[in-house]
Amino acid sequence: MMDFGNLEAWFVTGSQHLYGPETLQKVAEHSATIAQALDASSQVPVKIVFKPVMTNSDSIHELFLDANRSKNCIGLITWMHTFSPARMWISGLRSLDKPLMHLHTQFNEPLPWSTIDMNFMNLNQSAHGDREFGFIGARMRLKRRIIVGFWEDAQVHQEMGCWARAACAWHDARQLKIARFGDNMRNVAVTEGNKVNAEINLRYSVNGYGIGDLVQRVQQATDAEIDKLVADYDTSYAVAEPLRAGGCKRQSLRDAARIEVGLRRFLQETGSHAFTDTFEDLHGLTQLPGIAVQRLMSDGYGFGAEGDWKTAALVRAVKVMSHGLKGGASFMEDYTYHLKDGGQVLGAHMLEVCPSIAGSKPSAEIHPLSIGGKQDPVRLVFTAAPGKAVNASVVDMGNRFRLIVNQVNITKPEHPLPKLPVARAVWEPEPNLKIAATAWISAGGSHHTALSPALTAEHLENFADMSGMEYLLIDRDTKLADFTKELRWNEVYWHLANGF
Ligand code: MN
Repeated sequence: MMDFGNLEAWFVTGSQHLYGPETLQKVAEHSATIAQALDASSQVPVKIVFKPVMTNSDSIHELFLDANRSKNCIGLITWMHTFSPARMWISGLRSLDKPLMHLHTQFNEPLPWSTIDMNFMNLNQSAHGDREFGFIGARMRLKRRIIVGFWEDAQVHQEMGCWARAACAWHDARQLKIARFGDNMRNVAVTEGNKVNAEINLRYSVNGYGIGDLVQRVQQATDAEIDKLVADYDTSYAVAEPLRAGGCKRQSLRDAARIEVGLRRFLQETGSHAFTDTFEDLHGLTQLPGIAVQRLMSDGYGFGAEGDWKTAALVRAVKVMSHGLKGGASFMEDYTYHLKDGGQVLGAHMLEVCPSIAGSKPSAEIHPLSIGGKQDPVRLVFTAAPGKAVNASVVDMGNRFRLIVNQVNITKPEHPLPKLPVARAVWEPEPNLKIAATAWISAGGSHHTALSPALTAEHLENFADMSGMEYLLIDRDTKLADFTKELRWNEVYWHLANGF
C-alpha cells in the first residue's frame, strides 16, 4: 500500500539566454550530472528527474503547472547555476502547489585557485544567482526549504532525504481518506478539532461511517479467509497457550482474525489509508479490534484510538515518511510515569501499539479489558526496541494546527513487566521529564502521539513547513524560559499570518 517507486522530485535549473548556447549547454550537462547523483543517492528515496534548463517566464510557468498536475511529482528542487533574473520565476511560483526546495550548491567543489578566470566565474555563479532566487522566495513569502552545501556531500543528501520523505507524506495527505467508526470518546477535548479546517489546510478528508457497515464486512469474512489469517498469526507470533489450536480461547483468535478481514476489506473498499475507532461504539463486534489494528498499522495504515482522527492522520504521515527506514512507527499514548531517577514515561495503549517498533517477536495474548463491555480482546504484546525516537502530537489551536515534537530515548525497562498485558515503550524525554512535560503541557500537546524511532525531528519540521502547521520542538536544547516566549510570540505570528 506504500510505494515510492513512482514518486519523483523534479530538478529545475535556472539560467537566461544572455550567456549564449555554449554556456547553456554546459549548465544543462552539469545539472543533469547533479540530478543523476542525487537520484543515485541511497538517502534520497524518490526519483530525481532532470528538467530542461529554464530561461524564460512562460516555460517556467508551464513546467510548474505540469508539476501541479503530475500524479507522481512530490515537489521541485531549484538551483541557479548561473544568474537567472528572478522576475521570470514569479508567475510560475505564484501557481506552484507543490513543495519547493532550493538547493544552494556549486558544480565545482574547490575553487581552482591557479586557473580561475572569467569563464569559470561566469559559469559558477550560484553564490549570487541563488541569492537572486532567494530574494523572490522571501519577497513572495514562499514556503520553501533551503539546503546549502556541495551536491555530493553526505549531509546534503541526508537533508534532501528528509525533505523528500516529508514531501512524500504531504503528497499522500492530499489524497488521504480517514475512516471513522464512532465519534470522539466521551467529552475529550484534545482529540477534537475542525475537520473542515483540516481538509482545507492539511488536505486529508475525515469521513464517518456507521459501525454496522464495518460489522457487515466482518460477518462476510469466510472460513477460508479466517483460516489463512490464523495460520499467519500462528507463524508470526509467539501465540499464548489458550489461543493455540485446541486451546480454550482459540475461538477468540478466530474472532479477532474475522475482524481483521472485515476491517481490511472495509478500508480497501473505501480507499481509506487511516482510521479511528472507539470502545464506546462497538455494536455488533465481538471484541475491541486489537491485533487487527496493530497489524494494519504495521502495513502502513494510520490509526488513532477513541475517534482521534488528527493522530490517525499523523500516524499515517509518519508511516509514509519512515517507509523503508529501520525503526518503525506507532500510535502511542503517554500512559504512566516512573518519577524516580530523573523520570521516565511508560507509553502504551489499551491494545493498539504497532509491532513495527517491537524489540523482539511479539506474543499474541488474550486478557480482559475492563472497559467497552465486550469479550476479551486479542492483542500483540511486546516491548519497544531501545534507541532514539521522536514523539509527536497535533493539536487544533482554533486558528492553526500545532505540531509538537519531543526528542526521546527509548530505554530497556529496568525491570520485567510480567503483569502488563499490553505492548509498551519506556522512554526518557529530552532534555528530561520535568522540562519536557512542562513544555508539552504548556503547548497543549495531546496524550495521543505518533512515536517513531525511524525518524528525526528534521523530517517532522519539513512536514510542518509544507502543511502550514506551527512547529514546536522539545529537545536537549530546550529551555523553559525560551519555550514560553516562543509560545507567546507564535500566538502573535499565527494571528497575523492567517491574515496575510
Ligand atoms: Mn487513548
